[in-house]
Amino acid sequence: MKSLNEPDWLNELDWLNGQGDAMLQLVEKLANVNSGTFNLDGLKTVTDCLTNEFSNLGGKLAVFESRPQFSINSMGNSEQQTLGDIIHITKRSQAEKKILLCIHMDTVYSKDHPFQRCQWLENGNLNGPGVADAKGGLIVMLYALKAFEQSPLAKNIGWEVLINPDEEIGSPGSVHIINEIAKRCSAGLLFEPALPDGTLVSWRKGSGNFTFVAKGRAAHAGREFEKGRNAIVAMAKLMTAVDQLNSSPEITYNVGNFQGGGALNVVPDLAIGRVNVRIKTVEQQNQVEQQFTELLNAANQADGISIEMHGQFSSPPKPMSPGIAELQLRIEKCAEMLGKQINWRGTGGACDGNKFAAAGLPNIDTLGPRGGDIHSMDEYLIPESLVPSAKLVTLILLSFANEI
Ligand SMILES: [Zn+2]
Repeated sequence: MKSLNEPDWLNELDWLNGQGDAMLQLVEKLANVNSGTFNLDGLKTVTDCLTNEFSNLGGKLAVFESRPQFSINSMGNSEQQTLGDIIHITKRSQAEKKILLCIHMDTVYSKDHPFQRCQWLENGNLNGPGVADAKGGLIVMLYALKAFEQSPLAKNIGWEVLINPDEEIGSPGSVHIINEIAKRCSAGLLFEPALPDGTLVSWRKGSGNFTFVAKGRAAHAGREFEKGRNAIVAMAKLMTAVDQLNSSPEITYNVGNFQGGGALNVVPDLAIGRVNVRIKTVEQQNQVEQQFTELLNAANQADGISIEMHGQFSSPPKPMSPGIAELQLRIEKCAEMLGKQINWRGTGGACDGNKFAAAGLPNIDTLGPRGGDIHSMDEYLIPESLVPSAKLVTLILLSFANEI
């Protein structure tokens, strides 16, 4: 890599120095619009704002429908849900080297959640829904690209931006685009928040959601109890067996939701159990799938009971790889030029970085601003991290462009 002390490179970073207020205002504006995954109106408002902002970059911008999500409802039936639109932008798509930049616009806070607006905290941080995860990341991505596009080096590489509306539920409606883009790009930068102290995430566990639907036979609890086949009891046994698979922190099985039953004088004929599983390796993924098949076969031996399993590992594990190590080194060098040292750690949380990695695209996925307590009403953004995060990403892009 050429030295980053080149005056023209530093000028582009200087431009970012004056952008802190504008960046913060945009984060606040976006976070004050609810964009819970199923709030299609809110997502539309955010999409309009983002397409307006990103169109200034001069790329080819498209907004298109995501695929619907299929889930199992409380009656045990498959249900289709419409998801928000996807924003996709490409610039210099013919370039030999293309970099992916991606982050989601949905949040975990639904339209009727009490957490809807930003407020300033006494310590100077901004508390608000999605300020760190990931509206701050959207703005870091935007400003890094704005800064990068001012450089004469920009012409050397192409980039693709993906902004999806469904990451918080595992990206069921956008994973097909993720898989397509992964084939076209040579590295990925994703904008989930960095940890509060600036640590970035290296490896991630994989995650899968599984829904078990047990069907038995209803009967009057007094008159013909013996004719009934109790679906709740069958499901309780199965869920207990699933919980007992927990034996090491490497693989975790969380029985997270249980539904079934109604009037107490009826033997219940329907029960639903939902489980989240986290794994570290693809081998463990296969192992869990095998375990579930065996438990299911055993449970289905019970007279008058039938249990079906739905679901999958929607986020495969993201283990360390040579491609990721190379990106880490590049990012460390860029950070060094900003006088910073990067620390890394693994996490049990999954994100779209898992999917890109599984599709063959090495990526670093916590290049957003620093923040914490995400997915809670205490979520906060550290505002002074916006500009340094954008500078780091600009340098990463310049480093790629300088190699051609
Ligand atoms: Zn996120």
